[in-house]
Amino acid sequence: MKTLIKGATIVACDEQNTVIQGDVVVDNNVIVFVGNDYKEKCDKVIDADGKLLIPGFVNTHCHATMSLFRNLGENTDFSNWWYDVMRPLEAQLQPKDYELGCKLSALEMIRNGITTVTDLYMRSDICAKAFGEYGLRCNISIGAITGQEILDEKELDRQKSTVLKANPNAKIILFAHAIYSCDESQLAEVSRYARLHKLPLTIHCSETMTEVGECYTKYGVTPVGYLESLGFFDGTKTILAHCVHCDRDDVEILKKYDTHISSNPSSNLILASGVAPIYSFMSNGLNVCLGTDGPASNNSLDFFKEMFLLDNLQSGVLNNAKALTCEQTLKCATINGARALGYNNLGMIKKGFLADLVLIDLNGVNMQPLNNNVSAIVNSANPSNVYMTMVDGKVLYMDGKYTFDVDQKALFKECNERITKLKSIAKVN
Ligand SMILES: [Zn+2]
Repeated sequence: MKTLIKGATIVACDEQNTVIQGDVVVDNNVIVFVGNDYKEKCDKVIDADGKLLIPGFVNTHCHATMSLFRNLGENTDFSNWWYDVMRPLEAQLQPKDYELGCKLSALEMIRNGITTVTDLYMRSDICAKAFGEYGLRCNISIGAITGQEILDEKELDRQKSTVLKANPNAKIILFAHAIYSCDESQLAEVSRYARLHKLPLTIHCSETMTEVGECYTKYGVTPVGYLESLGFFDGTKTILAHCVHCDRDDVEILKKYDTHISSNPSSNLILASGVAPIYSFMSNGLNVCLGTDGPASNNSLDFFKEMFLLDNLQSGVLNNAKALTCEQTLKCATINGARALGYNNLGMIKKGFLADLVLIDLNGVNMQPLNNNVSAIVNSANPSNVYMTMVDGKVLYMDGKYTFDVDQKALFKECNERITKLKSIAKVN
């Protein structure tokens, strides 16, 4: 099936930062034409006049089930939030809760132009199935998710096949929760498995001052130095999430291993963790991508907000309005994330690339007049401007409606009932 997206302002996110007025043709799930005046017949035409076409957002760090815990633990820092609020609630989760939380998050992401999610959580098989049902592209974690797992090749093979059975289109990512929750053997095993099977590897790293301080006290090095000493980065392309508190030596280590950084600015602000040195990472040639983190520490899944914060926090903290360009920031939200996750055909609007595309309606009061396309996306747009979300050539959301069957009212009701129950059992307010 061929779909013609006609007359869009195409923001390609390619090497040349191409912005052109033209047509994009999608054949099944692949972009087959980017240019002007496509003449051949297509099965479907989407009128994109007055709209910006961008690659779909690639969320490189999420815990989607946690949408059930949205707005809980407000005004607490990371430690209180994690140990006193989240852990007791997580201990009570039932299989159905993972499905509910992931479906709620998937709807929010699709509506907000996020086309790929990287989900790192328990019961990853249920999560993978939920994303698959709604058509979201997903990278699903196996590994030391809680730090309680006894890991070896057989166990990781088992986890992998459980996820792929639940959703054959899911991609696997190795995950160790953090250095404070996983022991050395778990860290070594997830790294070894990622290396052996050529899979991406991710971990929360240097998120808080407490984590860095405790690591110094225990091992005499930073979390990045500790992971290096264990051989965690050897032969793998690791995505380090957060990296709020990294020093110059850390940056040198990260450069040595070509490590990717998944920045989660909202979560770092809400939990009072700090502002990551993104400008330093990028000026040292490191690949920076974006994540929402879980909806419990972010309270939403809004990549426009993440882009705005990523870009403007650097300007504010460094007193340098030129710290990041809007083009760089948009790439952090798209192509850089795809690269980090190991895709070589995702995240740009280019012939041969996967058709994960988003149309942004310019016919909104916050988008007029249009003086700068990319600044309008990064600094002015919000999810209400998303007109269409396409994943793998399939339109999932258009003009305010999902294209698949979903009873949102029933889902919201179930989510509310379950979290009320979970809070009462866990004795959390
Ligand atoms: Zn996280």
